[in-house]
Amino acid sequence: MTTQNYYESVSETIYLSTNEKFTYCDLCKSQLSAIANIGDAINHYLKYHRTKLLHVGQESSIDGSGKQFSSTVAILGRSV
Ligand SMILES: [Zn+2]
Repeated sequence: MTTQNYYESVSETIYLSTNEKFTYCDLCKSQLSAIANIGDAINHYLKYHRTKLLHVGQESSIDGSGKQFSSTVAILGRSV
């Protein structure tokens, strides 16, 4: 499978970040509060919503007191 074909069917993305709580799934609204880490949240979208994992990386942000902190982010894609 080429990279071009891998992205071809994606028409919508889903953003996950360790800086945000995975309270509810964006797609089925099932409660994800028991999910403790971003890997388990990714697994939910891959298993139940046939999404593709497009990207995993770091994101830097500034908190309220001006200190920089890093989060892990994941971008998932699906066709709608
Ligand atoms: Zn779901």
